[in-house]
Amino acid sequence: MVNKFYKRRFPLVLAVVLMFLLSSLVTFATTPPKYIFLFIGDGMGVAQRQVAELQLNAGPTTPAKDQNKRLVMNRMKVIGVDTTYDSSSMVPDSASTATAISSGYKTLSGVIGYREDKTTKTPFITEALKQKGYAVGIVSSVKIVHATPAAFYAHIDSRNRYDDIANQLINSNFDLFVGGGGNGHFLATGRKDKRDLYKEATDKGFAVATTSKDFLALKPGQRVLANLPGDVNDEALPYAVDRKADDLPLDKIVSKSIDILSANKKGFFLMVEEGKVDWACHANDTGSTIANMFDLDRAVAAALEFQKTHKDTLIVVTGDHECGGLGLSMGQEYRVSPEIFLQQKMSFEVADVKVAEILKKESTSNDSIFKLAADFGLSNLKDSEKTAIEKAIGDQKANLSKEQSIALYGGYKPVSMTFCRLMNARANLFWTSYVHTGIPVMTSAEGTGAEKFAGYQDDTDICKALNSITSAGLKW
Ligand SMILES: [Zn+2]
Repeated sequence: MVNKFYKRRFPLVLAVVLMFLLSSLVTFATTPPKYIFLFIGDGMGVAQRQVAELQLNAGPTTPAKDQNKRLVMNRMKVIGVDTTYDSSSMVPDSASTATAISSGYKTLSGVIGYREDKTTKTPFITEALKQKGYAVGIVSSVKIVHATPAAFYAHIDSRNRYDDIANQLINSNFDLFVGGGGNGHFLATGRKDKRDLYKEATDKGFAVATTSKDFLALKPGQRVLANLPGDVNDEALPYAVDRKADDLPLDKIVSKSIDILSANKKGFFLMVEEGKVDWACHANDTGSTIANMFDLDRAVAAALEFQKTHKDTLIVVTGDHECGGLGLSMGQEYRVSPEIFLQQKMSFEVADVKVAEILKKESTSNDSIFKLAADFGLSNLKDSEKTAIEKAIGDQKANLSKEQSIALYGGYKPVSMTFCRLMNARANLFWTSYVHTGIPVMTSAEGTGAEKFAGYQDDTDICKALNSITSAGLKW
């Protein structure tokens, strides 16, 4: 009887089991994350993450064993390590590495969205996701036409063709672009061809904002081009240490961008770059590096907060390459003192402006620069430190040749570079370079599909993982 029952019912049971297995497979394959955040810390290797975390735990008498506070990004559930070499070198630049992350293809340094032949376009994960119905947003703390953000929407043979990158931006079908400064590439007065790209963008349906107030007043669902008030060169947002009351920090920009993009029923992909970590690392300005690392970390925290109420969210945090070869301790001493940078009150960039103002006055004595050093964060200068600053003042007044300037100060202004070096010496830190290095970067991930980012991988694998998690259809 049992046997008969089984025999008769078997095809039915089999069919039910098969349907269940099939439906679970289909469900698995058709439920990609609805919301995807990709954070890129430009120049952010393991040491940059660690020095910020050290300062998080720093106090004048903090023993090393009390290092229990973690950056938000270091607390995320999945951690991987990625190599960053490009087709030109073991030491890549942001154009090629961002292209690797956005397209899954290695290319030459300086090239955005093209293969090594500079004529074959790479596909972008952003383009594929837009086709699938996601809204696409690109946010950066540096100008929106800079290499990293550009590698998510532009295909161009040289990263320096900023005006042409801006043309591609307004012709894209993406939904939100927010950067810092860079107005010159959109204004007739700043462009070689005298086109007014803000007007053209408006005609194409973008709401254009160039102030924090106008950006914050934008409505969900609007197409956005926002170039927020820039730094002294209008090339990026001000450094975190230089921020004024009206300047928006990255986490506020991300929160507002989430509000705007959330209007899309099919979800969004949001790339967020903290680009000035890299610039501070080039200048060996550790205090600004740390402060901007905290900016990025708070922005990641804003995404994690969103994830609490939107479970179908994937958050990935990576670096594009290391910059500066940051060493946590130098010489014979087993010591790092990151609390030194709690004193730093301005970036090298603002120090440059102040030094130039002081040196313009003929009556200036070195005491004004020593006073500025104290304002920078170097209180109670030792005689040896004063001697180093005096030498830098002499070199700055002497208008060094380009070769001398690069050999002695990495091409930076002598006085501010000396300030940074003295801070680093006090903290017992050392930078091995003024440019990028081949040190791998760390990647954190949490949410739907996060496990794909674990392990020792390559930057191209980030795009491949995003593609497979979302079934975006890119092929290599
Ligand atoms: Zn760089």
